[in-house]
Amino acid sequence: MPIDRAACKALDHADPLARHRDDFTLPDDVVYLDGNSLGALPRATAGRVAACIAKDWGQDLITSWNKAGWIDLPRRLGDKIARLVGAAPGEVLVADSTSVNLFKLLAAALALRPERRTILSDTGNFPTDLYMAQGLAALRGAGHVLRLAEPADVAHSIDGDTAVVMLTEVDYRTGRRHDMRALTAAAHAAGALTIWDLAHSAGAGPVDLAGCGADFAVGCGYKFLNGGPGAPAFLYVPTRHQDAFVQPLSGWLGHAAPFAFEHGYRPAEGVSRYLCGTPPILSMVALECGLDTVLAADPAALRAKAMRMGDLFITLVEERCAGHGLTLACPRDATTRGSQVSFRHPQGYAIVQALVARGVIGDFRAPDILRFGLAPLYLRYDDIWRATDELAGILATRAWDQERFHRRAAVT
Ligand SMILES: *Cc1c(COP(=O)(O)O)cnc(C)c1O
Repeated sequence: MPIDRAACKALDHADPLARHRDDFTLPDDVVYLDGNSLGALPRATAGRVAACIAKDWGQDLITSWNKAGWIDLPRRLGDKIARLVGAAPGEVLVADSTSVNLFKLLAAALALRPERRTILSDTGNFPTDLYMAQGLAALRGAGHVLRLAEPADVAHSIDGDTAVVMLTEVDYRTGRRHDMRALTAAAHAAGALTIWDLAHSAGAGPVDLAGCGADFAVGCGYKFLNGGPGAPAFLYVPTRHQDAFVQPLSGWLGHAAPFAFEHGYRPAEGVSRYLCGTPPILSMVALECGLDTVLAADPAALRAKAMRMGDLFITLVEERCAGHGLTLACPRDATTRGSQVSFRHPQGYAIVQALVARGVIGDFRAPDILRFGLAPLYLRYDDIWRATDELAGILATRAWDQERFHRRAAVT
């Protein structure tokens, strides 16, 4: 029997995570399927940021670096993220952007494998990761190269020249999820290190960096961690690697004694040496509100719900949109899929614009991918119904085929 809307509402009724939606201010008439790109606004954020501005900045001024603990935020928020990614306190730091953090960690990994020349990644990785690796390889010279394998061939492509295997766990377009444990083991067996990008993993379900033996990791603050547009990112360096290398963006806040104002750089002990300059405090305060929304939920329940929502989405599309040229672009097996589903269609861009015009916000990724993020913390099964219902209507009536839906904006 086909699934109907009542069945979706029944799933919401039984959903142990349903109450978390109230932690966010989502517009009623919008189905938000882009929380993997920009997480929703937590209810607490506006008030907390306003209080920081009015009191900590407005009244207490510069004394807030001590009094409000601003200086501790990179480590304190790092310890909160550590709980979400299977790291110990003191192993995660919030700083800079994902791209910049990747640069620091790649430099560390290359330095720890000085006799090797290859950074190995895959063709599904997000472009900024590849670009940062290209930039660092060019800067290092001496034959350093970035080599790309097909996602399925990564394990077989690791060889004696591989210094580091740099991968994003969940593919931003197809949602394909790498086996972090197996690939880390394969890298280690060949004497290589690993850097995992958790941009589409952190906050969406359990992550076990320590259990997988990962060497380094980075991730994004503004996706499933709900930190707000341009939120600072995080990096993970386990205790065993922390004092083995001095990262090259040797700014004053990574110094052993920043307020001694010495002429020479001396790295701080521990993960703090991965700091560079002054943290963006207002963004840090907003990020903490986002982290608190995720920490309030059971990670295993988040993962289970995201898998179930993905299965429901695929089933509804296949039942109701058949014959209109959509093909599945993500894994059908939920255990190898991240918290998103995607489909290909030659008119993907216009279809996504038509959906947005009807209040269903997904996004388009070139060349032909319609991508729908499934943030389990605040989405309802009924949202999946509404999204697929609008999609079926748009395809059946060719409502996407209007000039305004074909016009490309700067950000897709
Ligand atoms: C979103 C994303 C980034 C973003 O990097 P920024 O430096 O924060 O712009 C990096 N890597 C991956 C895999 C991403 O999905």
